[in-house]
Amino acid sequence: EVKRDGKGSYRFFSQAMHEQVRERTDTEAMLRQAVRTNAFELHYQPRVLLLPRRVVAVEALVRLRSADILIAPSRFIRIAEETGLIVPIGWWVIEQVCRQLQQWKGTILDGVRVSLNVSAMQIRRSDFYPALRALTERYGIDPAQIELEITESSLVEPEPGVAVCLNLLKEAGFSMALDDFGTGYSSFAYLNRLPIDTLKIDRSFIREVGSSQGAVVVEAILALGRALGKKVVAEGVETREQLAWLEARGCDEAQGFLLCPPAVAQDLPRALAASGLIRTEPERRRSAS
Ligand code: C2E
Ligand code: MG
Ligand code: MG
Ligand code: MG
Repeated sequence: EVKRDGKGSYRFFSQAMHEQVRERTDTEAMLRQAVRTNAFELHYQPRVLLLPRRVVAVEALVRLRSADILIAPSRFIRIAEETGLIVPIGWWVIEQVCRQLQQWKGTILDGVRVSLNVSAMQIRRSDFYPALRALTERYGIDPAQIELEITESSLVEPEPGVAVCLNLLKEAGFSMALDDFGTGYSSFAYLNRLPIDTLKIDRSFIREVGSSQGAVVVEAILALGRALGKKVVAEGVETREQLAWLEARGCDEAQGFLLCPPAVAQDLPRALAASGLIRTEPERRRSAS
């Protein structure tokens, strides 16, 4: 009777599973191909200091280019982590960022800091620290220009190796941010123990600051950050109300479509000038004359 009762639903279930498996296999094949051919692209989103309002850093965000379309990281980062492909992708991102920092020398973006997302899987590997040092040295990049963003949930139970690595990175002059803060239940104990410079409040909380419940949560994170001497960055700021709210409460930096969406390096100076967020070279000359 199982056969008779369940046939329709069995077929439905099996089709759904089949779809899922196929999509996964497709994504994995596409990822492997992309890693072989370096078919990735970096976009950069400004991180804006609120007082005075100006760009202090840009976050590098990876996209996959397949034929003529760009594929968002939400569609491939998870599978990249499960397959370990995130490690070569991560190195591609880091090297690309070093190249970009080198290219920005002498332009209006000279000296800008870059934050980049690194997977805990990559940091956990023992070659991470020496390889990163070797790369930044090869490109003549000051570690102070690089902040590594680690997703809070991936550090919920940091292994001793990760702590050692983070301390080495810190000593070398890199800074560290906890990304998607508030979504990962980190213990206050290791917030103090690990060399974390910055808390990036997850955008799901920023979306809720208009409600009294939502406001309480973000106020608590701001207070925590202040008490621990961390810089606090709000992610996903989309409205003027959210920005004004954050500004009034002394949030250090904000990021979001309202301020400036991610752009390729080539378009960044124009995007920044359009948003009025940068003291551009021409403006400086204009005001000087
Ligand atoms: P994330 O690190 O939290 O990055 C912020 C994400 O929010 C980016 O999505 C950005 O485009 C998006 N965003 C910025 N402002 C707004 C806004 O105002 N509203 C909304 N709704 N979204 C906004 P993106 O580029 O699609 O990246 C998604 C996630 O993928 C990132 O979240 C990060 O965790 C991961 N990711 C991106 N690039 C890399 C990478 O190079 N390596 C690793 N390991 N992960 C990456
Ligand atoms: Mg990030
Ligand atoms: Mg991230
Ligand atoms: Mg985030």
